[in-house]
Amino acid sequence: MSAFPKVILRNNKADAVKRFHPWIFSGAIKAVDQAVREGSVVEVVNESGDFLAVGHYSPSNIAVKILSFQPVEELGTLFEERVKQAFAVRQNAGLVGSDRTNCYRLINAEGDGLPGLIVDWYNGTAVVQAYSLGMQEARSHLLHALQSIYGSALKAVYDKSAAVLPRAEMPVENQYWLGDRTHEKVLENGHQFFVDWETGQKTGFFLDQRDNRALLGNYATGKRVLNTFCYSGGFSVYAVRANAKEVHSVDSSAKAIEWTKTNIELNNSANISHTAFTADVFTFLKECDASYDVIILDPPAFAKNITARHQAVMAYKRLNSLALHKLSPGGLLFTFSCSQVVTPDLFKGGVTAGAIESGKVIRILHSLTQPADHPVSIYHPEGLYLKGLVLQVD
Ligand code: SAH
Repeated sequence: MSAFPKVILRNNKADAVKRFHPWIFSGAIKAVDQAVREGSVVEVVNESGDFLAVGHYSPSNIAVKILSFQPVEELGTLFEERVKQAFAVRQNAGLVGSDRTNCYRLINAEGDGLPGLIVDWYNGTAVVQAYSLGMQEARSHLLHALQSIYGSALKAVYDKSAAVLPRAEMPVENQYWLGDRTHEKVLENGHQFFVDWETGQKTGFFLDQRDNRALLGNYATGKRVLNTFCYSGGFSVYAVRANAKEVHSVDSSAKAIEWTKTNIELNNSANISHTAFTADVFTFLKECDASYDVIILDPPAFAKNITARHQAVMAYKRLNSLALHKLSPGGLLFTFSCSQVVTPDLFKGGVTAGAIESGKVIRILHSLTQPADHPVSIYHPEGLYLKGLVLQVD
């Protein structure tokens, strides 16, 4: 008998769980044991009491995030198994022990069977973001699992959940569970990046664009490149290292532009011309009179929820149309969306509308997505958030 308190599903609502979808919506619930509170580990059963899953409870629209579709004896063992399995995926992808890349996403929430948990690895420091109280309260299990996998290679663990787990009654504070290292110079495909997880956005670096940056590198040699929404200059560094003719980087955050300059300096032994602009991208694109051979558009999520989705698609249309106008003949547009609620088809629709508005003949060279260290459960298509297209204009 499991010791976990129970959440009882309505009988006609059990299908999604049986198909391994990791979320249970509040409307599917018939009753909840009295002992259940926010963050509780619960056993999900049907009206006859048959076992369905084990997960974390939260009194919200997504009421249970599922940790296991099998009975769970011991939570610590489950965490250790999940983290080990995730580590093996990164090993197989060539990301562990590589002398060219020493940063990667170790845990990608639902994609690694740990909904609500993100862990990014920066050459000895694990940066953790727990999106639910249940995950926050599982920290001793997570820390133990990390120590058992990395041993003495684990120098620091920084919990950066404050921004993603806003709780008025008992606010979560960012803190070190281990060590106190505040930043690191990491390697990605042999390129150096300064990462500051305390003051940086998200966990400090956008690891999800690794493969797409490498692709940009393949196209950038001898080109005039504009990298918009550049953050710490990821795409710009690859362009510089590929011996682009000239690189422009744009971000509205002054801090991001500072990091971009630092990262360009770290990688620009060939002294490629680079200029960074602290500016709004929409304004920059409207006002710049230059034309570029390659433009990268990697905006932040325009829609955080379904109600903002239409506005977001319209924003992609406007942005892509503006950028397409600034491309020289034969030029390339690397265009992305990281809004989870904007599906690949919707994104493509928005970009197509922008293409029509530009009046140019355009072909798709690549359809892009997130890399292997950001895996997606096939039963949870919501986990595929990063979409990208490489377009060429005539
Ligand atoms: N391409 C980057 C990640 C981009 S994150 C990489 O490879 O690392 C999105 C960035 O857009 C953030 O740095 C944010 O500061 C910036 N941003 C958001 N809105 C903006 C706007 N209107 N104009 C310019 N930059 C903006």
